[in-house]
Amino acid sequence: MTADQNTQRSWAPQTQMVRGATERSQFSETNEAIFMTSGYVYENAEEAEGAFKGENERFMYSRFRNPTVAMFEKRLALIEGAEDCRATASGMAAVYAALACHLSAGDRLVVSRALFGSCHYICAELLPRFGVKVDFVDGTDITQWEAALSTPANAVFFETPSNPGLEMIDVAKVSELAHKAGAVVVVDNVFATPILQKPLHNGADIVVYSATKHIDGQGRCLGGAILGTTEFIVEKLTPFFRHTGPSLSPFNAWILLKSLETLKLRMEHHCNNALKVAHALEREKNISKILYPFLPSHPQHKLATSQMSAGGSIITFELTGGKFCAFQFLNQLKLVDISNNLGDAKSLACHPATTTHHRLTPEERGHLGITEALVRISIGLEDTDDLIADITQALA
Ligand SMILES: *Cc1c(COP(=O)(O)O)cnc(C)c1O
Repeated sequence: MTADQNTQRSWAPQTQMVRGATERSQFSETNEAIFMTSGYVYENAEEAEGAFKGENERFMYSRFRNPTVAMFEKRLALIEGAEDCRATASGMAAVYAALACHLSAGDRLVVSRALFGSCHYICAELLPRFGVKVDFVDGTDITQWEAALSTPANAVFFETPSNPGLEMIDVAKVSELAHKAGAVVVVDNVFATPILQKPLHNGADIVVYSATKHIDGQGRCLGGAILGTTEFIVEKLTPFFRHTGPSLSPFNAWILLKSLETLKLRMEHHCNNALKVAHALEREKNISKILYPFLPSHPQHKLATSQMSAGGSIITFELTGGKFCAFQFLNQLKLVDISNNLGDAKSLACHPATTTHHRLTPEERGHLGITEALVRISIGLEDTDDLIADITQALA
């Protein structure tokens, strides 16, 4: 017996993460099955005709839907509190599909300047090639949103907290302004995850994820997701999705499905660890500036604590002594690895100016506070004493 949709919606998040949307095959397996199949067979030609006419809902081709992928989509939708979800092969496929599926030449998109490097490419270079007008604002400054959204717009896109500057954007306020301007609000919720922040509850229309980050959280596979209303998913996204093919592999969906079982436990541990390390870093004299949303010194600490339930896994800081010292620090780390990935069980550190954000011009990096002295650390699930000891010795 499986619980019905309404019962599953009433479950606490931890129960949804372990059991939500589980479908069992005729073999009654305990664990979710991997349906590695590209196609599906029909009893007769009429059934195939009906499926293509949309008369009977069934699996037709794994570019459209797949049973393992559907379990992941439905489970994530339950956790997020979204009506529907489509999973993608990567986070970037999710970001691109969420924007491209409904924007047309002549439309206007307003975005926060503090974007992940590839999101910046989509907004600054790719969409303008197809005639979408894109305006950038300082996402932390509500007066800039007010000015940009005083004229009609079709979509608003931002990430909060941002990568790597950990800028916070007020989802409720920006969504209200966006809706008055006629825009759909798309939020990249990668840093917060559905555990720490629920943009849809604060007025956003669509949430996108890189599941590669905390959702997998164990460095194994790429993945992404788009969540929103059934109307948006069915009418805007589904045709784009079916015909352009950003679909997630059933094997990766199975990995991510298993990851959801432990997402809350891992996020709580990531956040506790990160807060401890952030406090320890505050006492270090070789650090000139430290950013962590749940430190009172964060410029938007009040917004962070009202919008998020914990500070996340990422800490950003500046070393005295510029790029030379930042590189020295990274090279001296013995436990923490140098990697541009984040949200992993293993703690990872990187130098955004020369890696994730190297494509930006020095002026653009300047706007975002991505200096040559800036280091980003994604705090993993190791013991904090070991992490603090490693970071402290590398700073010395
Ligand atoms: C990593 C990341 C993405 C892209 O996700 P991929 O799975 O690597 O394609 C998008 N947005 C943010 C904020 C990210 O950190």
